[in-house]
Amino acid sequence: MNKRFIYLDHAASTPVDPQVVEAMLPYFNEIYGNASGLHRQARASAKAIDDSRQKVANLLGRSPREIIFTACGTESDNIAILGVAWAQRQAKRGNHLITSSIEHHAVGHTIEQLCEKFGFEQTIVAVDGHGLVDPNDVAAAIRPDTILISVMTANNEVGTIQPIAEIGAIAHVRGIPFHTDAVQAAGYESLLVDVLNVDLLAISGHKIYAPKGIGVLYGRKKIPLLPPFSGGSHENGRRPGTENVPYIVGIAKAMELIQAHQDEEKPRQTKLRDKLIQGVLQSIPNSQLSGHPTQRLANNASFVFGGCEADAILMHLDQVGIQASSGSACNSGMPTPSHVLIAMGISHYLALSALRLTLGKQTTAEDIDTVLEILPQLIWKVRKQGK
Ligand code: PLP
Repeated sequence: MNKRFIYLDHAASTPVDPQVVEAMLPYFNEIYGNASGLHRQARASAKAIDDSRQKVANLLGRSPREIIFTACGTESDNIAILGVAWAQRQAKRGNHLITSSIEHHAVGHTIEQLCEKFGFEQTIVAVDGHGLVDPNDVAAAIRPDTILISVMTANNEVGTIQPIAEIGAIAHVRGIPFHTDAVQAAGYESLLVDVLNVDLLAISGHKIYAPKGIGVLYGRKKIPLLPPFSGGSHENGRRPGTENVPYIVGIAKAMELIQAHQDEEKPRQTKLRDKLIQGVLQSIPNSQLSGHPTQRLANNASFVFGGCEADAILMHLDQVGIQASSGSACNSGMPTPSHVLIAMGISHYLALSALRLTLGKQTTAEDIDTVLEILPQLIWKVRKQGK
């Protein structure tokens, strides 16, 4: 991959891996049949989808029949939440959902909409100062009419990894479907859904070196889903629409590459991340790590500095060829502090100075050294300008 700058925004999006591009290419103009057809072209497309579904199923440790290809992580979360909510309402099982205060808007806003427009109710479980959900709080929030629990596997802004298997066990004892947004965790954490006690799990292609515009939803067979879209019987009747064969091949290849390289890549990035965190905390006065010190994604180093605005930090970094983000990509450009940092008890003032540096496959030790050389002076300058 061509490197003319230091890219530390992998939580926002990743470059497509050349091996993924190579796997996808034949499916644009050599094998292009509609997989629902009967001729050879169509059968070749159908076979590519079947093979891809099997690869994804292997990584999740389940049956290919439970893999649903979608258009993105947001869509996967929506189908899971809306699909369960409508099915549970139809079966008169209840109206109450439980989620956490640090979810991505793909989950948070979807549940909010169910409550505001369609009469559902939610309990939002608080997190501690590290962004961790306490499984006991989830247990305490359960009501006889609870129909879904949704807690993300790892947070996109601060990288905190949740005790998903414990929360899932609590949900399962009570017979409540459990959904997790694993968009950021995919690539770093195990996605074996039976170990995680998860019934529905969302993945996004562009966070794992596949293109933007493709996602996966794992949906356990026994969980009733009323899909929010109607149309054909694609994806076992759970997501209608002609399959995007090249992108499906791409996300499956990306997941295969994760499986093949995770054992070296995760410790490599963890080491670089720790060097970056220690270096920043030691060299920048009043800097503070956001998120859990150890229970965090291998690629996430997030800070608040105080006395400077995030956008000014990002602009100055960009001028010297370092690309980063102030939190979730969707929040950039808005002067409101991130709901995640506020939920963690970080003050409004500090939350406005958030910096998220997220590493990836092509991040090197030299990149980290360069950032550690530049960032202390840069923060000093931005703080001075802000006075
Ligand atoms: N969930 C999390 C945790 C994310 O970080 C993102 C993207 O930033 C999404 C969901 C949405 O994924 P997509 O961009 O594929 O819609």
